[in-house]
Amino acid sequence: MKQRVNGIINKGRLKRIYKRLRQVNAYSETFRQLSDEALKAKTTEFRQRLADGASLSSLLPEAYAVIREASQRVLGMYPKDVQVLGAIVLHDGNIAEMQTGEGKTLTATLPLYLNGLTGKGAYLITTNDYLARRDCEEMTPLFEWLGLSIALGFVEDPEYEYMPGEKRAMYEYDIIYTTNGRLGFDYLIDNLADSKEAKFLPPLYFGIIDEADSIVLDSAQTPLVISGAPRVQSNLFGITKTFVETLEEDIHYAVNKKEKAIWLTPEGITRANAYFGIDNIYDTPYFDLIRNINLALRARHMFEANLDYFVYNGEVVLIDRVTGRMLPGTKLQSGLHQAIEAKEGVEISEDRSAMATITFQNFFRQFDVFSGMSATSKLGEKEFFDLYGKVVVQIPTDKPIKRIDYADRVFKDLTAKNNAIIERVCTLHKKQRPVLLITRTAEAAEYFSMQFFDRHIPNNLLIAQNVAKEAQMIAEAGQLGAVTVATSMAGRGTDIKLAEGVEELGGLAVIVSEHMENSRVDRQLRGRAGRQGDPGSSQIYISLEDYVVQRWGKSKLLDKGQLDRIDADTFENSRLFQQQVKHIVARAQRVSEEKGTTTREMNNEYEKSLSAQREIIYAERDRVLDQEQLHGDQLMALAQDVFQRDYDVHRLNQIDHLYAYIYRYISFQYRGDFSGIDLADKQAVVAHLLTLFKKRLAAQYEVIGNDYMFNRFIQKAILKAIDSRWIQQVDDLQQLRSSINNRQNGKRNAIFEYHRVALASFEAMREAVKVHIVHNLCQSVPSFDKEDKLVIHFPN
Ligand code: ADP
Ligand code: MG
Repeated sequence: MKQRVNGIINKGRLKRIYKRLRQVNAYSETFRQLSDEALKAKTTEFRQRLADGASLSSLLPEAYAVIREASQRVLGMYPKDVQVLGAIVLHDGNIAEMQTGEGKTLTATLPLYLNGLTGKGAYLITTNDYLARRDCEEMTPLFEWLGLSIALGFVEDPEYEYMPGEKRAMYEYDIIYTTNGRLGFDYLIDNLADSKEAKFLPPLYFGIIDEADSIVLDSAQTPLVISGAPRVQSNLFGITKTFVETLEEDIHYAVNKKEKAIWLTPEGITRANAYFGIDNIYDTPYFDLIRNINLALRARHMFEANLDYFVYNGEVVLIDRVTGRMLPGTKLQSGLHQAIEAKEGVEISEDRSAMATITFQNFFRQFDVFSGMSATSKLGEKEFFDLYGKVVVQIPTDKPIKRIDYADRVFKDLTAKNNAIIERVCTLHKKQRPVLLITRTAEAAEYFSMQFFDRHIPNNLLIAQNVAKEAQMIAEAGQLGAVTVATSMAGRGTDIKLAEGVEELGGLAVIVSEHMENSRVDRQLRGRAGRQGDPGSSQIYISLEDYVVQRWGKSKLLDKGQLDRIDADTFENSRLFQQQVKHIVARAQRVSEEKGTTTREMNNEYEKSLSAQREIIYAERDRVLDQEQLHGDQLMALAQDVFQRDYDVHRLNQIDHLYAYIYRYISFQYRGDFSGIDLADKQAVVAHLLTLFKKRLAAQYEVIGNDYMFNRFIQKAILKAIDSRWIQQVDDLQQLRSSINNRQNGKRNAIFEYHRVALASFEAMREAVKVHIVHNLCQSVPSFDKEDKLVIHFPN
């Protein structure tokens, strides 16, 4: 029923889009008659019409018809009607679901061309460098033929150092192919620039996200983080680990598995106070202690070895929750990684503070318009709508899908299942039919690969090698007699073409060794077979020992070990048992999906404070960068503000406090005295400080010598103050977030509490920024280097 309703809604959406398609098609014949020169000249004409006030949407039918014809002439591919439908959805800023092999890369060129006409930058964003470069290279001749400039948005060499101005030049192209990670980092870096010249990223105008669900939904849990200096290492990891080992669940601590929350009960708090010999661990001086206790609790009870991480070569290596791959080099933030290291008794690594972070979900909001495409968007529809108000439109395939998706094959345990998989692959291989076996982990892939070699079946193994190599290997998976063993996402984005004679054998056979944590990923995997109307099949093998079941499964049968008592033969012949296992697996996967959604919702909630604050700070930075002339009056007003506050805060009515304050913030060479001033008179003291401040500024001006440089000096002093405080704030918020879940002992709403503290700390931060500006202005040491460039040594 739900599916029918969906179908009707989708039909309604498509109807409108079909109307646009007919408008595009109406130009096809005319443009086919045009000479190359006349067709190319259309670009200039469109730009002119845009300049004269035409809207992009009004140009869409003609522009799409032009690039379609150009694509035929330059690439030898004429975008099909279904591709034009997808292209219309993309221009509208929605999500197009198009099956694997339908030609999403070519589809994207239509809206990229249309939006590229504005010169404001149209982006194609994909998951990895290899795909970005491949698609960029393939499409460059087309765009250049039409007179648009196109570039890859990065240099692949990780050691590469960009020349000044190089990135800015790169981002001035009409069309840019890049990855979500590259662009996201550039966004963060751009907002750390300390002069207008150092900024390089234009406002983000239009972007298309390839494999949108992977990027926006699956990788949403790992925010982009620019790491800064190492944090002062806490030495509490060991002792708090030992402490939490003495605690008992529901007595000393309570757990909410679903929300991944864990906290000390009042008994637990009493015990902690006794253990550490203090009155109340929630008192401010013990902030670090309680934070470490919470980290140790989470490490001990929320993270399971071999499910969430491996201990590998004496290091804790995280496992990707979606693909089950190891993520070497990726670390949990804010001390959690270190807490797990303590739990496992391995060497504790350095914990770096976060300088700037953003989640992908929020990053994409920076675009005026963005859209997405993927083969499996429909299953993420609700989230796309909740997050961005975007709808998913299912585009029909060019040819009917012939792939057969078989029902799951059910086994009791891993051994029985693995044997059946090996047997099945051998049978298929005997007939020369190509097989793609997909596993969740690299270990499993290696195991199968070895088994096949033992049976003299040559096979390709794809496990997190470099993406280019994976792509090449997966492209060959459709050859006669090919056996390819791969982890779930290996070689994504690469088309598997069938060799001659394979069609008669039934096409590519995809075998998946277990359900992934999300049915969307299952569907992506099935989609490896049956592209563009090819024959093919897919089947998933399941057992009670699968990851999803272990991780999320819940059933009386599992608890009581009932199924264990049944022997393999009975099991194989009992539909009832098999049905039960299917249920358990399906349930576990649903739980896992819901968990994923909840986590993303929570992340999104948490991100709200950070993103609101980030927007304010970034806008403030831009204002400072843009200001040609910073007025003395503004600085005086700011200083007055600071002194008024600090008079009370630092109790400047006492002479020793006042001297200390002046030495610290204004001038370490102060020689004056206060004999004529009544220190109890706040306004008199403030006025005196202001005079000192003014003198310091004048002295700095003397050193610097001219208005232009002095203005630069002020600018840098302000930015430095903002950045140092803001970076601290980012890090604090991240720490706060990792500790706040645990503070809900009074059943207080964790998120509400988080926003409250986040706001209070932001306000405190803004006050601190002002103090730092005064401090930087007064006590920085400006000088000039050999090339006469202004160099400033900041006081902190
Ligand atoms: P997807 O990303 O949707 O899985 P690709 O963009 O990788 O698919 O395209 C799959 C294959 O189809 C590529 O080899 C591409 O060159 C080819 N292709 C796409 N569109 C057309 C077309 N209109 N005519 C001919 N070949 C096409
Ligand atoms: Mg693709």
